[in-house]
Order: sequence, then structure tokens, then C-alpha cells
Amino acid sequence: MLLFIGNVDIAYHLASFGSVQRKSKIRMKRKIYWSPYSKRTLLASTEQEAENETSWKQSYETRRVPDQQDNTNDEEEAEEENMNRVIKELSQRFDWPKESLSSKKQVSVDPILFHEPSFLQSHSYEDFIKESEQAKKRNHVESMDTESFMRLFENARKGWLSCPQCKGLAPPEEIEKWGWCSYCHAEIDLKKSPAEILYPQEEEKKTDKQKKSDSIRNVSKRVVQREWNVSCSKRALETINPIRQLVQGMAVKPNPDKKLIPLSIGDPTAFGNLRIPREAMKVLSKVLAEDSAHGYSNSLGNDVARSSIANKYSSKHHSITKDDIILTCGTSGALEMIFNALCNPGDNVLIPRPGFPLFKTLLDNLGVEVRYYDLDPHQQWQIRLEQLPKLVDSRTAALVVNNPSNPCGSVFSYSHMMAILEIAQRLCIPIVADEVYSDMTFSGSQFFSFGSLSEYVPILSVGSVSKMFVAPGWRLGWIIIHDRQRLLETGNVIQGLRQLSMRMLVPSSPFQMVLPTLFSDSCKSDFVALVETLEDHAKFTVDSLSKIRGLSCTSAPQGSMYCMVHVDSQSMGFQDDMEWATQLLAEESVLVLPGQCFQAPHFFRIVYCAPKAVLNEAFSRIRRFCENHQTN
Ligand SMILES: *Cc1c(COP(=O)(O)O)cnc(C)c1O
Repeated sequence: MLLFIGNVDIAYHLASFGSVQRKSKIRMKRKIYWSPYSKRTLLASTEQEAENETSWKQSYETRRVPDQQDNTNDEEEAEEENMNRVIKELSQRFDWPKESLSSKKQVSVDPILFHEPSFLQSHSYEDFIKESEQAKKRNHVESMDTESFMRLFENARKGWLSCPQCKGLAPPEEIEKWGWCSYCHAEIDLKKSPAEILYPQEEEKKTDKQKKSDSIRNVSKRVVQREWNVSCSKRALETINPIRQLVQGMAVKPNPDKKLIPLSIGDPTAFGNLRIPREAMKVLSKVLAEDSAHGYSNSLGNDVARSSIANKYSSKHHSITKDDIILTCGTSGALEMIFNALCNPGDNVLIPRPGFPLFKTLLDNLGVEVRYYDLDPHQQWQIRLEQLPKLVDSRTAALVVNNPSNPCGSVFSYSHMMAILEIAQRLCIPIVADEVYSDMTFSGSQFFSFGSLSEYVPILSVGSVSKMFVAPGWRLGWIIIHDRQRLLETGNVIQGLRQLSMRMLVPSSPFQMVLPTLFSDSCKSDFVALVETLEDHAKFTVDSLSKIRGLSCTSAPQGSMYCMVHVDSQSMGFQDDMEWATQLLAEESVLVLPGQCFQAPHFFRIVYCAPKAVLNEAFSRIRRFCENHQTN
């Protein structure tokens, strides 16, 4: 019976090289049978024979092996070509010198090495030669031609075992199953070590324990089986930005006859009309020119930068120091770090609806359950506080609040904030306060930070220069820890945050150096001007849009850069806000985000940062669109 076990590739190689044939004095017949059962091939002269011999009753796929008796010249050429390919591959893959791989050369090999897949998996050519030199001294050496050697070597690297007698290779499971070599039919006792079979006298000196650990069976278990299988983590693939997803879902092109007006992106730099305070730019240039801030900063952020934040956010009743501040990669990085520090998989966190989609993206990523509480569109988007107690359980890790709000443009009143704090205290939940729009409030509204008001409830407040100072690309954000009762210390939350800050060492050092300037009087007038512009735009937005039939601003913006507009899409013949916004883009080339992006169907969000002339054009187009589509 003639049998070869190996994958198809190798079977072809062996058949055309004839190397193992020569070695093991087996003459091969023409057919390779493939067994779907073992996902391997075997050679036999007839299908029947293969079937009988293997008792693999599954159907076989037959493949023809090129006839090697005829066309000796062709065959030699093919062999040469094949050999060159193998040499190239191996010298590249394993970094072996090409000269050492010439087919004419004979190699001295310690056959034992073929039973040490872990050695072969990890060692270089030099190691191998050294080892073989040692073997020569011990008379443990065999000479073989390079091509057979390389083939054996490559397969041994894959973790295949070779027969101590003939060096024929097979996967360990195969030998385990059959108990004998598929090439030379020598019996292989898996309990014995290869050395015991090859050099019985020497092996007697070894202890039983050593022998056992060197047995073929155990050696085969030392193999690290690796194949190319580079695949993306589940966590990464489950990370979804709902805005991107929904906007892609809109899948229409803007009207090519009209210039696109994107009122969708929460980036104040988008139109070039709003700018970083000029004084800050001067300081940044100076910092860069001085070459003084190119090194790593303290992992929490440099002292000067942190002190400037502490100064800015200290209040009469409660002063904070630089030790309460951690600089982060924007507000986004701050939120990610906090969720990481507060939550274990399976915990839950309460977040606003409508709300900023990143909260969910970050929490999903950590295996944390998201629980929505609602904001009331008819009450200036205040939290429907009565919902909170029903949402809380023993695994609730935090309450996320966002004030001033994206996407609502609302600003919480003092009394509403006190009511929130009271409930959080009663329910014993820390508050994560996204205050990235702090102080960006319009006349009639005042910004209070949760940290300044909370006597009891721990507040982790986050912010950045992204919106306040029109520099989202700087990625310069922070966490402010307010914990007057030291409730976060007991559970090591602050220590955890500090440890997490050591991972990335953000934000970049030169930008940190500009923070004191941004918070200084020299940038104050720019900030005031920014907020005045936004207030003017907000008013213009509400005035223009509330005149349009089918649209209404249930609560006019009090701060930030956004306005949520209610749309009666059905009266215009659209199924929902998504379809309305999609069609608006297709007809009028105005892009606004449908409320669904923020878990708020029947609304859309407008970013009113654009120059007034642009807003004016956009609003005229929206008016025309709504009028054209009114069904009665
Ligand atoms: C823009 C925004 C952020 C992200 O701010 P970065 O500092 O740019 O990371 C976080 N939260 C809210 C509510 C935002 O609107």
C-alpha cells in the first residue's frame, strides 16, 4: 500500500521532487485523494485502496499528479524552477542565506532537531548550524540534500512530526491516529522520544521524567500552531459611530446644481468665520519657535496647564488645585478615560436622550449597558427627573449629564441642577458632567458647573478647547475631579484615572503650554465675541425657522452651537425625520442631521456656526423645500 499524507501542495511537491520517494524508497502512484474528513490528501493507487486502507468512508476528490515518467527534461526544468521558488520563499520567510539553500549542497542535520518543532519555529540559520555542529561531535548526524531538508524543515516549523526512521512528515494527530509512519510504515511509539528511537544507548542515561517529557506525543504538544489569521477584534468591529452610520444610510447625493451647505458638523472651524483667539496663536508660535516643549509632559498634563484650569474652575466656596485636573485627548478622551475608570462590563450608565452619540459609542465599546433618560422638549430640555430612580440599580455606575447641551442647545437652570444633585445624592450615583460648552450661554441663561454646586455628589467634569476656543483639532481636553466628601477615593477611582493617564501621555506638549493664555484676560474678548456671534446666529435661526410651516423650535437655544427643530415630516409626505433630511439634501443640498442620530425622532439638529449669509441661504432653501412638500 502506498500512502502519503500531507496537504495537496506538498503532495505535488513531493511527487515532482521525488525526494521523499528516494529517501523512503517508496514509489508513488499517480493519484492524490483528498479527504474532506481530515482535510488532507493521501496517495493511493486506486480509490478503493485508499478507502479500504483508511476506513475514511467519505467521498474523495481526486486530482491528477503530473506524470513524471515522461518528459524527463521538462520535469527537470520544472524541478529546478520549483526549487528556486522554494529557496526564494524560505530565504525570505526565515531569513536563511540563499547560498545555504542550493539544491546541490548536502546538509548535515541532527535528525533530532526535526522533532523539536519549538526549536525550528524560533531559531535562525546560525543557531541551526551551531546545533548541527554539536550533533556532529555526538555522531548524531545525517546528510541530506538541501531540498529534502528544506521541505522537512518547513513542515517541522508548522509543527508536523517526522518519522524518526525515514523523516517523512505528518501532522501529529495523524500519527496519533495511525500509530505508524505513513511513508515507511515503521511503527511509531508516541510514548518514546525520537532520541530513544534513534540513539537508544545514549537515551538510557536519561531519567524517566526527562524521557516522558521528550516523548513524541509531548513534543508534538509543545508546538505552537500558527497560520495566517489576522482578524479584527470583536470590540473594534462593534465600535460604531451612529452619526456616520445614519449619514451613510442617507445615501443620496446633494443636488449638483446647488452648493452644499453642511449645517451638520459640530466643528466651529468648518466655515472659517470663527477662529481661535489670536493671542493664543501667537503664544503657540512662540512655544514652537523656542523649542522648549517637545518632550513628554507629566502623564496628568504639565503643571502650568493644569493650574490654569484649576484657577478658572475654582469657585468662592470650593477651590480646586492642579491635583484635581487630568489633561486628556479632548473631551472625548476624557469621557473614555472616566468610563474606563468607573465601569466594569455589565455595569450600566444613564445617558440623556436626545444626547451626544459618543456616550453610547464609548460605553458599548466597554461592554457597559446604556440606559436613556429623557429630556423634555417642552421644558427647555430639562431632565425628566422622575425617570431616574426607575433606571437605577445596583450596577449603575454613573449619571451622564451634558450642559449646555449638544444637540439641544439648552442650559440648565440653577434650580434644575440642584434638583439633579439631590436625586444623585439620594441614589448615590456619581455624575459625569460633559461641560464642553461651559460659559457658552446666551443672555438670560447662566452657566453653573456641577462641580461648583455639588457639596456632596462626586462630579467628574469634562471639557476642552474644542468648542470654547474654536480648536477641536488641538485635541486638548481635561477632567476636573470634584469630590468634596472624598467618596471617589474609597474605591480608588482617582488612582485608576491617574493610572489610565499613563497609557497615552496626551495631549501634545506644545498645545498644553497655550492653556494659561486661553484662560487669561488676553483671550477673553475673543471668547465674548464668539458667544455673541453664536447668540445672534441662534436668534436668527429660531426666527427664520419658526416662520416655516411644519417646523417649530419647541425650546429656543440658550447656549452651545445647536438648535433642535421639530419637523412635522408627515404633513410634508415624509415617513420620518430621516427621510425628510435625506430629501432635503437631495433637492436643496442642505445637510442637517436627522434627530434619529441623537435618539430624537421628529427633530433635526442645526449647527448655526456658519456665516449669517450662508445660514440665510440655507434657511431660504429649507423654507422652499417645506412649502413645496406641504400636502395640504
Ligand atoms: C464636541 C463634543 C465633545 C467632543 O469634544 P472634543 O473635545 O473635540 O473631544 C464631547 N461632548 C459633547 C457634548 C460635544 O458636543
